[in-house]
Amino acid sequence: MIEKPMIIQELEEIQDTALEALKKIENEEALQNWRRDILGRSSAVMSVFSNISQHPKELRPLIGQVANQVKQTLETALLDRSEIVKEAAILQKLQDEKLDVTLPGRRPVTGRYHPVSTVLRRIYAIFADMGFQVHRSRDVESDLFNFELLNIPAYHPARDMWDTFYVEGEGVVLKTHTSPGQIYAMRKNAPKPTRAILPGMCYRYEQISARSEIQFNQLEVIAVGKNITFGDMKGTLNGFVRRLFDKDVRTRLRPSYFPFTEPSAEMDVECFVCGGKGCSVCKGSGWLEIMGCGMMHPVVLQNGGYDPTIYSGFAAGMGPERISMLLHKIEDIRYFWGNDIRFLEQFR
Ligand SMILES: [Zn+2]
Repeated sequence: MIEKPMIIQELEEIQDTALEALKKIENEEALQNWRRDILGRSSAVMSVFSNISQHPKELRPLIGQVANQVKQTLETALLDRSEIVKEAAILQKLQDEKLDVTLPGRRPVTGRYHPVSTVLRRIYAIFADMGFQVHRSRDVESDLFNFELLNIPAYHPARDMWDTFYVEGEGVVLKTHTSPGQIYAMRKNAPKPTRAILPGMCYRYEQISARSEIQFNQLEVIAVGKNITFGDMKGTLNGFVRRLFDKDVRTRLRPSYFPFTEPSAEMDVECFVCGGKGCSVCKGSGWLEIMGCGMMHPVVLQNGGYDPTIYSGFAAGMGPERISMLLHKIEDIRYFWGNDIRFLEQFR
């Protein structure tokens, strides 16, 4: 019986040791090292093939055959172990990233209304109940509609009250008030009665401060028809103010001046902060100025398409930012258009 050549014993030992080592491998890196050491080009197994000519000729087929078997066994074992290591890695990953599905979800971030939009919507709702419709007019306006047709001719001293942004082109301005909308709304309805509210952004070339901005909202109210009186105006505005401030607040009218109304007045409401006793919000007076109003000037009625000898009407204008400032005790108008999320998030 031919004795087993030494090299075959060696190969069997290498195989046993390598398989033992493979069993203990837990990660991909160690697996790659094992592959390099055991099956790499300069490994003991592979060098048997390159050095086969050193063995006696009659033994070469046997040695080659055994070396091949060893190589195949090791390769198969490597593949098997590789599968196990991969699966373990996936399990570990799942374990590490475990989701607790019983945790409460995160609330998605939702937007909310701007404080001025909230006030505007309240105002719309109150006037809608009284039969007023919303009319909107454009932001870029002609001198004619912004001034002339509202009884403010070029030489009129009242033009000083509106520091105006002039846009390129003859007589084109950014509207300084919502009053141009009065003309549009009346011309649309005349001679049928008009009941409209006119909200919109207005622009004035002013020094920006805590009390004045170059852009702000305005909202005007107009009612035109036969036999509309100052008493109708007072009743309508009183009803509105009481619903807006949710209280039976007292109001008062003070004489004032506007070029497009005659007579003109300012409406004050009793300070709802101090109840009329006097505080910092009302500056000690007990009253808060809330809007300007008056009976429509005959010239404006005529420009709107109504015969002022037959028809009459009233108009009132207010600042939604100012109302919002009073309602929320906001002290600086610049917050409204400053886009500071900390300010905006306070209003739900
Ligand atoms: Zn007060």
